[in-house]
Amino acid sequence: MRILIFGPNGSGKGTQSAILVKKTGLTHIESGGIFREHAKKGTELGKKAKTYTDQGQLVPDEITIPMIVDRLSRSDCANGWILDGFPRNPSQAMALIQALEQGQTPLDVVIEIRLAREVAKARLMGRATCPNGHPNNTAIPAIAPIKSGNQLICAKCQQPVTVRQDDIDEQAIDVRLNIYFDEQNGTVSAIRAVESWAANRPDVNVIHVDGEGDIQAISETIAAALGR
Ligand code: ADP
Repeated sequence: MRILIFGPNGSGKGTQSAILVKKTGLTHIESGGIFREHAKKGTELGKKAKTYTDQGQLVPDEITIPMIVDRLSRSDCANGWILDGFPRNPSQAMALIQALEQGQTPLDVVIEIRLAREVAKARLMGRATCPNGHPNNTAIPAIAPIKSGNQLICAKCQQPVTVRQDDIDEQAIDVRLNIYFDEQNGTVSAIRAVESWAANRPDVNVIHVDGEGDIQAISETIAAALGR
């Protein structure tokens, strides 16, 4: 199964992807995560990408499109994948559709998690990363980290949580949300492009889910729509 998952930054799409990966064993491809890995390792691509990711801007298509197309062609993707964070503009959407058609690996599912911009912004400003991957967010009581001395720790595993560079900077958050909600050249227009492509293909399952619900409610809605 090949799944595309969309949702504003902070909508919980990473969390839902992780839940789907656990359930299905599909390979999770997260464009932002690939850039962060490269930056951590100090590769040329990582250094180049960091100048954009730190400011919340899109890494140029010449870098991002081949990186994702190549990643999807690796052997661990042969049995399916969940793609999270790509496409984010109409040209990425077109390039993806074309690559999948050429490779005869059509898309099976499109999931769109919908969330109002102001809710997404509050969540981004509260988001924290746990070293064991537990979701943490000071803006969501059910998964709020707890204070221990002068640091915040994960309520589940008691490990100190960290905050991503691009989540500290309010300006970078606004840039990311502007890109997402841009109906001309941003992610919302990429979603519309994918959905209009899917409209003529009855075997593509398009799922819309309200991102205001809690993690479990959203994952149950997605599972029900997938018949799992
Ligand atoms: P978020 O969804 O919270 O913004 P991500 O981890 O998905 O975070 O992405 C982090 C950053 O990586 C983005 O702000 C952008 O700079 C870069 N990035 C991720 N996906 C893409 C993409 N498809 N095209 C260009 N840049 C991307």
